[in-house]
Amino acid sequence: MSKLRTLETLQFDNTFARLPEVFYAKVTPTPLKNPCLVAFNPEAAALLDLDPEEARRPEFAGCFAGQYLPPGSEPLAMVYAGHQFGAYVSRLGDGRAILLGEVRNGRGEKWDLHLKGAGLTPFSRDDDGRAVLRSCIREYLCGEAMHGLGIATTRALCVVGSEEEVLREQVETGATLLRLAPSHVRFGHFEFFYWRRQFDHLKTLADYVLAQHFPELVGRPDAYARFYHEAAVRTARLIAKWQAVGFAHGVMNSDNMSVLGMTLDYGPFGFLEAYNPAFICNHSDHQGRYAFHNQPDIGYFNLRCLAQALTPLAPDEAIKAGLDAYEAVFAEHYGELMRAKLGLREALPGDDPLLRGLLELMRESGADYTNVFRAFCDFKQAPEARNETIRDYFVDREAFDKWAERYKARLWAEGSRDEGGREAERAARMKRVNPKYVLRNYLAHTAIRMATEQKDFSEIERLRLLLRDPFAEQPEMDRYAAPPPDWGKHLIVSCSS
Ligand code: AMP
Ligand code: MG
Repeated sequence: MSKLRTLETLQFDNTFARLPEVFYAKVTPTPLKNPCLVAFNPEAAALLDLDPEEARRPEFAGCFAGQYLPPGSEPLAMVYAGHQFGAYVSRLGDGRAILLGEVRNGRGEKWDLHLKGAGLTPFSRDDDGRAVLRSCIREYLCGEAMHGLGIATTRALCVVGSEEEVLREQVETGATLLRLAPSHVRFGHFEFFYWRRQFDHLKTLADYVLAQHFPELVGRPDAYARFYHEAAVRTARLIAKWQAVGFAHGVMNSDNMSVLGMTLDYGPFGFLEAYNPAFICNHSDHQGRYAFHNQPDIGYFNLRCLAQALTPLAPDEAIKAGLDAYEAVFAEHYGELMRAKLGLREALPGDDPLLRGLLELMRESGADYTNVFRAFCDFKQAPEARNETIRDYFVDREAFDKWAERYKARLWAEGSRDEGGREAERAARMKRVNPKYVLRNYLAHTAIRMATEQKDFSEIERLRLLLRDPFAEQPEMDRYAAPPPDWGKHLIVSCSS
C-alpha cells in the first residue's frame, strides 16, 4: 500500500504548468466565506494517497474553499474554445474552475486537482466565477454514480459549502467542488489553436497529450492520427454506455468533451425515467439539440470538430478513418450492451428489430427505463410463464405478450433454457448489467434540499454509498429504486449552475 499523505505532503507533478503560458493564465482561487465541508469521498482520496482523516481538519474545507493552497500546487486556468450548441465560440477556458495542480500517487497515476467555483479568472467573461451548492452536489453524486455503473468519468474529492450568496434565478449558496481526472484537456483545447492558426502551439499541445496519456504512440510517424482514432473509439464507447444506461449529458458542447473519452462537466444531466428517446434534460435546450437520442450524432459532430482541428497534424484520410471507426465502434458496442441487458450472449439476425420493438412498447407506455430492464432479469421463459410483473409495466398487454413470445423464442435460439439453473444464471448475469439504482433527479433533489435548507448532508453520503454499487439488491434501500413521485417528474434543470 502507498504511504498516506496529508494536505501538506501531496506529491505534486504539475506537467501542464510546464507548458508555455499561451496555454493558460496563472491565477489563484478567490476564497469563499466561512467554508464548511459538505461532502467528502474517501474513494477519491485514495486515488491521491490522501489520508481520509485529513477531511476532519478545519484546514481541509479551507483549502478547497480556496483559502490556502496545498504546498506544491501551481494554480492556473486553462484556455480553450469550442462549439456551443453548434456555433463556434473562439475563446472559452476555465471561467470558474482552477487547476490547482496534478498529484501523482504511489501507483504512478496522475490526477488533476480541478477546483470548480474557485472565483474569477481571465476566462470568466460576464459571469461570476462561482458554482452553487446545488450543482456541486449533483456533479459530486453523478460522478460516483457513473463510476459505479462502470462508465468513464471525472470523480470528486469533496464539496465545500459557504456563507457566500451567489445569484442565479434566485439567490443560492456558493460552493466549490474538487474534481479529479487524469486530464481536463477537451476537444476545444485543440480547436482554440487551430482556429487561431497557431499550428506550432497545436503541435505542442498534441505532443503534450501524447506524452502524458498515450506514451505508446510517441515517436510513431502516424502518432497524431492514432491519437485521433483512439479519442474517437473512446468517445464511441462512452456514448454507447450512456445510451445503454439511459444517461443524457445535456450540454454536449465540444468544450465539454474529454480527449480521454470520459464523462466531463456535469450540468443539467438526467437519467431516463419514463422512457422517451427524445428526452431533453436541459431546460435551456429549446431546440432539443442535446436530446437523449441525438447524443450519438452529436458525438460525431464533436469528433468532426476535433478532426478539423487536427488537420494540420495528420492526413485527411487517416482522420476520416477515425471518424468511420467512431460509427462502427458505437454501433457494435451499443449492440453488445443492449444484448447483454436482455441476457443475450450471441448476436443473431433479428436482434435489432427485437430491441426496437421493446423500446417502442416502453415509449408507448412511458415505462421506467431502469426498472423495466431490471425487471427483465427475472423474466421466465417457460412457454406458460406470463411474466405478470413485467407485463404490468405496459399499457398494451397483448402487444407485450406478442413481444414476449418473440423474446422467448430468441432466448431458445441461443440455447437459453428454463431448466438446470440456467435461468438463474441468466438472471445473475443480467443483474450485473441492469442497474437497480441510478441517480434519479428527485433523489438528488431531496439530498440538495436537505443540504441547502437544513444543513443536513447525510442524504448525500447515503446516495454516494448506494450508487457505489448500483447493481446490488441492497434491499433496505428499495425505495430509492422507485420511479419519481409526481413532484419529482418534471424538475427543471437548466444550464445556470
Ligand atoms: P459550461 O457550459 O458549464 O461547460 O460552461 C461554458 C463556459 O462558461 C466555460 O468556459 C465555463 O468556464 C464558463 N462558465 C460557466 N459558468 C460560469 C460562471 N459562473 N462564471 C464564470 N464562467 C462560467
Ligand atoms: Mg464546460
